[in-house]
Amino acid sequence: MTVPDVTLNDGSTIPHLGYGVFKVPPGDTERAVTEALEVGYRHIDTAAIYGNEEGVGAAIAASGIARDELFVTTKLWNDRHHDDEPHAAIRESLDRLGLERVDLYLVHWPTPAKDDYVHAWEKMIEIREAGLSRSIGVSNHLVPHLERIVAATGVVPAVNQIELHPAYQQREITEWAAANDVRIESWGPLGQGKYNLLGAAPVMAAAAAHGRTPAQAVLRWHLQQGFIVFPKSVRRERLEENLDVFGFELSDAEMAAIDAMDPGDGSGRVSSHPDEVN
Ligand code: NAD
Repeated sequence: MTVPDVTLNDGSTIPHLGYGVFKVPPGDTERAVTEALEVGYRHIDTAAIYGNEEGVGAAIAASGIARDELFVTTKLWNDRHHDDEPHAAIRESLDRLGLERVDLYLVHWPTPAKDDYVHAWEKMIEIREAGLSRSIGVSNHLVPHLERIVAATGVVPAVNQIELHPAYQQREITEWAAANDVRIESWGPLGQGKYNLLGAAPVMAAAAAHGRTPAQAVLRWHLQQGFIVFPKSVRRERLEENLDVFGFELSDAEMAAIDAMDPGDGSGRVSSHPDEVN
């Protein structure tokens, strides 16, 4: 199974689909990532706060896969935006991962009440210049946060990784991203299993029309909008199912029916709002 690449605004490429390891227990991570690599994933999304970077690194080391065939993302946690802490934090992440550099480093949350996300972004630029991450981006940034970091530095993040799924489509951010050449990464692409997404009529109809599963239909809906996804599962058969989404295409009508699932008032959000995380 070959996953197509997409090109970021800095010219680097990233596999359009990967494997996310949020809430994969540290003791199970090496096994889960090893299985993901075996079934064909080449893009892993982790974070310092997930506590499982060592397991990701152990699986990579044991895999024998060439470093340049892998794409690894990790993230700067919220309590390390200040002073030179971002430099210390990435070096610790690299040690845990057993890597000399990551492919993408993200500011995990803007923590607006602390008002230090512009400083964090300035440090991210230094980290890229030092060769510790090939690309840099942000996560959970709202349009005012994005506008402020770009105005302060002139550097546009390669990606913004945000909660995004059919009931919560974040159109203000996705429109800003499209206009500013920032790639959207959808976290919680399957709604984290927190609402009946996979049993929703438009999803089930699209899945049935193509002889696919509801999860595969939802992942197609993301991919066809250009969003990068890395669904999480610790079960091999689901890892395979979630990767096998490049052999069919939803029609415009099927896409539109799933688009209509967002109530439009923000009530479809299943996790934290960026203003509340500090
Ligand atoms: P997700 O939407 O990927 O949902 C994961 C859950 O969906 C699994 O626990 C499983 O129960 C279920 N599932 C997976 N595959 C399935 C299938 N084929 N059929 C039926 N059910 C299936 O949620 P997530 O893990 O929160 O998001 C994916 C990744 O996004 C994370 O692992 C992490 O890497 C990233 N993430 C980032 C942030 C952030 O703040 N930047 C926050 C949350 C997640």
